[in-house]
Amino acid sequence: MIEVQSLSRYYGSRCAVDRVSFSISSREVVGFLGLNGAGKTTTLKVLAGLILPSGGDVAVDGVDMASSPTGVRARIGFLPEDPPLYTEMTVADSLRFVGGLRGMTEGAIADRLPGVLARTNLDDVADRVIGELSHGYRKRVGIASAIIHAPKLVILDEPISGLDPVQIVEMRAVIKGLKDECTVLVSSHILSEISQTCDRILVLNNGRLVAQGTETELAGRFHIGGSIDLSLRGEEDAARAAIEGIDGVKKIIPLGHTDGVISIRVSMASDVREAIAAALVGAGLGLRGISDAHDELEGIFLELTDHEAGGES
Ligand code: ATP
Repeated sequence: MIEVQSLSRYYGSRCAVDRVSFSISSREVVGFLGLNGAGKTTTLKVLAGLILPSGGDVAVDGVDMASSPTGVRARIGFLPEDPPLYTEMTVADSLRFVGGLRGMTEGAIADRLPGVLARTNLDDVADRVIGELSHGYRKRVGIASAIIHAPKLVILDEPISGLDPVQIVEMRAVIKGLKDECTVLVSSHILSEISQTCDRILVLNNGRLVAQGTETELAGRFHIGGSIDLSLRGEEDAARAAIEGIDGVKKIIPLGHTDGVISIRVSMASDVREAIAAALVGAGLGLRGISDAHDELEGIFLELTDHEAGGES
């Protein structure tokens, strides 16, 4: 459905996307995962035809972007992170308007509208003014606008960001449902969202595609031995010094501190929980809690990206 070959995008001399290649099959839901500044939005904007690439090739549904940009744009729907909405219009009117901008006839819009409203769970608010709706509804209006013209590929940039837990559950269901009629590429820096909604994951770091596959494939490839969360009374530096030399400890990530108790996550190449606990106690640190981090994808992600240096936030 989409073929991307050696795609690059520079902003001046800064390389935001560096020779990224991937392909996505029809009806797949693929997650684009990366820390802030990894290059997700830039890549998605190029694919959506909003900005030009500095190099590389993109083909959607067999149509080449360089030779037929309008042909590619017609096949794609795009939800930006902050979708522009016609806040003074009702949901249904705004979708009719967007359909018209997309070149649809009134008849085609009338045929398509009920299905789009149902797919995005907006039936109840079709006649409400968008400006009066909650953030979750507005995001779904953005998705409805992106799919009104029945694109073959829909690209969603951070559709979960800013939503409350109830809205997140609704959004997940909407994204999964899109797969019935199109291919979906969805970006997020929220690992659990990617793993819950996507068939496959592309991991981007500092503009480069550093891995792709299912969560299970990535876990197998990177031999993740698990992660544990520790809470202890003491200094982070002392904890780090006590355990970083243990064979099997791969990475130590500070999670925060309150009232003299620090939390750290330790990713391991093998199960060395007992050695870690013994080393901390031996160093005089008050070990107050130890639990499985239960997030395999997070272990993979930390393995693939440099958490300290990779992000901008
Ligand atoms: P975020 O989730 O924070 O938007 P992202 O993974 O989507 O992150 P991009 O927004 O694509 O990343 O940014 C990739 C890099 O390109 C970053 O270093 C960013 O500062 C830079 N960048 C993005 N847009 C511009 C721009 N218009 N001009 C210059 N640099 C830019």
